[in-house]
Amino acid sequence: MNEKYFPLDKIALEKIAKQYPTPFYIYDEKAIIENVRKIKEAFSVFPSYKNHFAVKALPNPYILKILSAEGFGADCASLPELLLAEMAGMKGEDLMLTSNETPANEYAAAKNMGAVINLDDFTHIEFLEKTAGLPKLISMRYNPGPLKEGNAIIGKPEEAKYGFTREQLILGYALLKQKGVKRFALHTMVASNELSVPYHIETARMLFELAVEILNKTGVRVEFINLGGGMGIPYKPDQDAVDYHVLTAGIKKAYDEILIPAGLDPMEIRTEWGRAVTGPYGWLIARAVHKKEIYRNYIALDACMADLMRPALYGAYHHITIPGKENAPLSETYDVVGSLCENNDKFAVQRKLPKIETAADAAGGIVSDKTGDFVVIHDAGAHGRSMGFNYNGKLRCRELLYRADGSVVQIRRAETVEDYFTTLDLSGVKNFT
Ligand SMILES: *Cc1c(COP(=O)(O)O)cnc(C)c1O
Repeated sequence: MNEKYFPLDKIALEKIAKQYPTPFYIYDEKAIIENVRKIKEAFSVFPSYKNHFAVKALPNPYILKILSAEGFGADCASLPELLLAEMAGMKGEDLMLTSNETPANEYAAAKNMGAVINLDDFTHIEFLEKTAGLPKLISMRYNPGPLKEGNAIIGKPEEAKYGFTREQLILGYALLKQKGVKRFALHTMVASNELSVPYHIETARMLFELAVEILNKTGVRVEFINLGGGMGIPYKPDQDAVDYHVLTAGIKKAYDEILIPAGLDPMEIRTEWGRAVTGPYGWLIARAVHKKEIYRNYIALDACMADLMRPALYGAYHHITIPGKENAPLSETYDVVGSLCENNDKFAVQRKLPKIETAADAAGGIVSDKTGDFVVIHDAGAHGRSMGFNYNGKLRCRELLYRADGSVVQIRRAETVEDYFTTLDLSGVKNFT
């Protein structure tokens, strides 16, 4: 079980929505910082620890600045993500480029920025050398293939396009050593939204054993081991959050059993968690605009899957609460939907919820899309707005930060029609026949 909390009540939301109309994302700074400190505390059993926050989870420089101040770095998948992290004051080896099918200009930019380059394939050794030159420190991504079981979102490692095979990895370290590279690291990323603690401990054990094998076969001592991202969060109220202390105690046991006897202590442990860092501390706030009763009962929001794709993409569960009706009976069964012309644009399917008032139900008969109940969609703080898109001409919503001092600041405005047209070359369209 986990408590689905939201830091604001209906009155506070009304006030915020006056200045910043719905839909919007709101992130809780204090809760994010408390969570980051809990993570760091749990990992303090290792000689050294750093999380490179996966920028794609919440690519906003305000959030990255908060994380940077707590000592987190960034895990970037592209040049724009590297630039975002740099904007937030992250520098050099705070940045890790874990990309795949990487273009030459991104390698060159990452090398110039002094970022840790994490290679995704054996052929990229030569590609990197010829396009950007080899940096001082190189990391490589391991794909364990059939040696590791898959998970629902990321699939089976042997079917995943990422990383080196074990044989290629050994050859890779040997080749890079021969080419004069002096500093090395090891990485894997085999799961997504995985709540099983034994699964994550097993991943660490696998990498620790691999680090020993690399040392024995190539003489290369990796300077850090990056366990990747993929730490799950309990989206459903009946799921339990991962106990970070149980997790790190299990990883530490593997560390003591494998790395210490091999002479690989002290070893820095790194992770690339995104979801577990910010996911539970961000919410999508919408208003109920329409109610529709056909074969099922529908509540339509002013947000749509352009703002949050996960339910449509993975059938993902996102908990929903109605401010002011926290203790009301769950008397209704609704599909909670958005306005896109796609039938999978549903935030919830056949969900038990309190009776929801829409714009048309508003007291005084004033029909406006600013009068319906607020609808809070939980656990949207990671892989939420960042996955959005503009299909159907839908414009993505704003992002707000609920600051530790209780104030609210806008950290990204809502998209406008002008934004939507901005990439069109309109100069030629008038005379185009
Ligand atoms: C997506 C991704 C992450 C972050 O995943 P979370 O599930 O948000 O922790 C980390 N590393 C890589 C390489 C990724 O692709």
